Amino acid sequence: MQSYYEILNVESTSSKEEIKKQYKKLVRMYHPDVNSSPEAEEIFKNITRASEILLDDEKRKKYDLLRNANKKINQKTYNNSSDYTFSDLFQKNKKTKEEPKAIQGEDITVSVTIDSKEAILGTTRTVNIATSILCPKCEGHKFANNQKCTYCEGKGEITKNKKITVKIPSSVKNKSKLRIKGEGKIGKFGGKNGNLYVIVNVEQKHEDFKIENGIVYYDAYISPYTAILGGNVKVPTLWGDATIKIPPLTKTNQSFKLIDVGIMNEKTQKKGDEIVKILIQIPTSITDEEFYLYEKLKEINLKKRNAPIFQ
Ligand SMILES: [Zn+2]
Repeated sequence: MQSYYEILNVESTSSKEEIKKQYKKLVRMYHPDVNSSPEAEEIFKNITRASEILLDDEKRKKYDLLRNANKKINQKTYNNSSDYTFSDLFQKNKKTKEEPKAIQGEDITVSVTIDSKEAILGTTRTVNIATSILCPKCEGHKFANNQKCTYCEGKGEITKNKKITVKIPSSVKNKSKLRIKGEGKIGKFGGKNGNLYVIVNVEQKHEDFKIENGIVYYDAYISPYTAILGGNVKVPTLWGDATIKIPPLTKTNQSFKLIDVGIMNEKTQKKGDEIVKILIQIPTSITDEEFYLYEKLKEINLKKRNAPIFQ
């Protein structure tokens, strides 16, 4: 294979000016506009490539380094050299150096489930992850005492189960992705460790708390009798259960405010409000006796002279 110097018919010591002059001369001879022979086309292609390298100071410098290195490393001849470009040479030369590239460790993703109260207040979860650490025997070199490391079976790393306690911040949203830097799989040859990603699933139940503008909302389902007769209704708060006294004839969607049981204000150390909305839940089944009594109630209601429309 001809070197770029040979293609342009110049010396490796030729100056840029000399090379430029020679290149122009060859262009005049082999340019497709002036030379229509099939060989000329190939030659023109090669001289263009050669000039691109040799007339660029930076590329020529690299090319020269490469030629010297190649001469030292091997005398191997390459076939099919027409597709052989400068970058190919450069790549091949690079490969012969046994300097491993830094490899970043893989990320690990786990998911945790928390309830809505924890989502509001923040919480912690301990997750078990299968991570990798450098083999303590061969320290990642895969070989120890000139033979394949028996401890890691030549992998350079070993799998280790690790417990990591993850702090989940307050006001976390469902499906949030938390990043714990550097707790993924180990990087190799100086590469960074991967990250651990924790997907936080917030369990949604119908009696869940909702939070808006720092106020806690809670839907309390009560029976029709309690709504009509009034009574005590137990409701959860972020700090434990509380009891609301429901007056007789409470309407559905009627709200009650509980003070000092909401979200703690970090600055004032005072707790906010919880708004409880009453929703009337119809029983899923009733006994014969209840059926009878409901029928009676209906009759009584229809007999009432000034009865409101209550079907
Ligand atoms: Zn090992």
